Amino acid sequence: MTAAVIDGKAFAEKLRARVADLAEDFTAAAGRRPGLAVVLVGEDPASSVYVRSKGKATEAAGMASFTHRLPAETSQDELLSLVRRLNADPLVDGILVQLPLPKQIDEDAVIAAIHPDKDVDGFHPINAGRLASGLPGFVPCTPLGCVMLLKERLGDLSGLDAVVIGRSNIVGKPMAQLLLGESCTVTIAHSRTRDLPALVRRADIVVAAVGRPEMVRGDWIKPGATVIDVGINRVDAGEGKTKLVGDVAFAEAAEVAGAVTPVPGGVGPMTIAVLLRNTLVAAHRNAGIPLAADAI
Ligand code: NAD
Repeated sequence: MTAAVIDGKAFAEKLRARVADLAEDFTAAAGRRPGLAVVLVGEDPASSVYVRSKGKATEAAGMASFTHRLPAETSQDELLSLVRRLNADPLVDGILVQLPLPKQIDEDAVIAAIHPDKDVDGFHPINAGRLASGLPGFVPCTPLGCVMLLKERLGDLSGLDAVVIGRSNIVGKPMAQLLLGESCTVTIAHSRTRDLPALVRRADIVVAAVGRPEMVRGDWIKPGATVIDVGINRVDAGEGKTKLVGDVAFAEAAEVAGAVTPVPGGVGPMTIAVLLRNTLVAAHRNAGIPLAADAI
C-alpha cells in the first residue's frame, strides 16, 4: 500500500473537542446551552441508531439535545406543526428531521418548513441557493466534512481537477459547489455518465457518493490522487456475517492513490462532528453572539 489513510475519526474527534470548548464559552455568554432538536418519524432501525448517536454526541459537546420520536403513521400536518413549534422555540438553535420520512409525508415540504437559520442540515432550498451563490449559509454536513478532510490533507485546492461521482442534493451537488468554491475544476458524474473510468483517471480529487459497493476500481485512479469515499454499503462477509464497505475498492485504490479515506472511519465520523459545528454556528447567530469566521 502506498497511499496515506486519511483518519476521519481522529479529525472528527478534534473538531468535536473544539466545538465543545466553544459551546462552553457560548453557554457562559448566553446563559443557556446551544440546542439541537432531532425529529424521528417511525422506527427505521438505521435511523434510530443515527438519532441516538446524534443525541449522545450533542450532549457530549455540552449542548442541549431535544429528541422527538413520532409514530410511523404521523400525518404531514402533525409533523409540520412540530417543525413550526421548534422554529419558534428560543432554546432550539438547530432542527434536524431524520430522513427518509414515511411515504405519506412530503420530504420537500418538511425541509422547506424548517427556518433557514435553524436548518443545520443545510437542505433548505434557501441554504442550497446560498451555497450556489457563494453566500454564507448552512452547508450539508457530509460534504462539508469531506472538504475539511481535503483541506487538511492538501491545503490549497485551487486549480485541482475534481470528479464528484453522484448528484444527490445531500452529497453530490453540495460537494461539487464546495469544490468549485475552493477553485477546483469540477466534473459531476452520475448514473448516465459515459466512460466514468476515463473521467476519474484525470482527477486529482475523487469523491465517490454513489451507494454501490467498491464500484470505483484501483485502475481508475490517477497515481497520487486523493480519494474521498462517502459510500456506506453493508455487504455479505461470509459465515452469516456482514461488513461495511465504501464505493471505492479500498485495497486497490490504496496501491495507486496519494491518500484515501477508509470505510468505516473516514467520512462517516465527520458528519456528526460537522452537525455539531453547524449547531454551534446557529446558536451564535440566533443569540446574536459573534463567532469569528475562522473560529471553527
Ligand atoms: P443517492 O442514491 O441519493 O445518490 C446516488 C447518486 O449516485 C445518484 O446521483 C446517481 O446518479 C449516482 N449513481 C448511481 N449509479 C451510478 C453509476 N453506476 N455511476 C455513476 N453514478 C451513479 O445517494 P446519496 O444520499 O448521495 O448517498 C451516496 C452514498 O453515500 C450512499 O452509500 C450513502 O449511504 C452514503 N452516505 C454517507 C454519508 C456519511 O455520513 N458518510 C452521508 C450520506 C450518504
